[in-house]
Amino acid sequence: MPSQIHSALQETPRATHAPGRPGYVGRFAPSPSGPLHAGSLVAALASYLDARAHQGRWLLRIEDIDEPRTVPGADQVILRQLQSLGMHWDAPPVWQTRRHALYAQAFAQLQAAQRTYDCRCTRRELSSGPYPGTCRPRPGVLQQATDTGRKARPSWRFVVEPGIETFQDRWLGAQSQDVASEVGDFIIRRADGLWAYQLVVVVDDGLQGVTDVVRGADLLDSTARQRQLARALGLPCPRMLHVPLLRDPQGRKLSKQNHAPALDLNRPLEALQQAWNDLGFVRLPVVAPGEFWPLATAQWAQRFP
Ligand code: GLU
Repeated sequence: MPSQIHSALQETPRATHAPGRPGYVGRFAPSPSGPLHAGSLVAALASYLDARAHQGRWLLRIEDIDEPRTVPGADQVILRQLQSLGMHWDAPPVWQTRRHALYAQAFAQLQAAQRTYDCRCTRRELSSGPYPGTCRPRPGVLQQATDTGRKARPSWRFVVEPGIETFQDRWLGAQSQDVASEVGDFIIRRADGLWAYQLVVVVDDGLQGVTDVVRGADLLDSTARQRQLARALGLPCPRMLHVPLLRDPQGRKLSKQNHAPALDLNRPLEALQQAWNDLGFVRLPVVAPGEFWPLATAQWAQRFP
């Protein structure tokens, strides 16, 4: 394992082993762009049940790295919502905005391995398809010193590997993606200086010792990229389970941007039953959240051993 990330790994408190699946560590990683809604609860519930079903540990990570999208106070609302539903984390939550040094270290490691380059392509120059590698350094070809009309501040891209990336998803089965031709070299540091989601999620999952990622299927498409980044950083690739997305009547992903209503915490059992049903299970014959958890955990363990 490369030494820089390895030393950070030793400083980051790691979850301890428990029986069940030894060493299982799961996480829920909400972006605090608003309170949890029915769609985010489905992902939270699935990741919580999977951790409990494997007698593992469940971590909470507040993904507030995209500061312009953060809504002040939303993190505290999310913490309260989870607690009032009976979902308790096993280690103090972490906030990405307090972890810049770790991301900088990982970025430096990728730079040292020549897996990054700066890119001044403007949005106008790029189509919505894969990045064509316009700014990728080519051996023996000098980079242009002045690029008039191009972006003053560069973004930074990760040099992807050629070939097909395959992995097994515990819900969806075998998956594959040719990252080089379908995505191309992707941004790990934005032109505004912020770390990109793809980089921080890989660094955090790796340093927090996450063994199992359970999240919404909107992120399925990011997994192959994240596996390439993890390998480049010498970090293990977690097992994956992507749960189906909830959609609004127009067929759009239920999200804060689409004004999905916050959960009604006056009726916590109803919120849990609804999310459980959205995951494809039959509502449980219980009258209180305290009765919901053991039954749901047992059924989840059978379905996802
Ligand atoms: N922060 C992301 C979101 O709220 C989730 C990231 C992940 O689970 O990998 O959609």
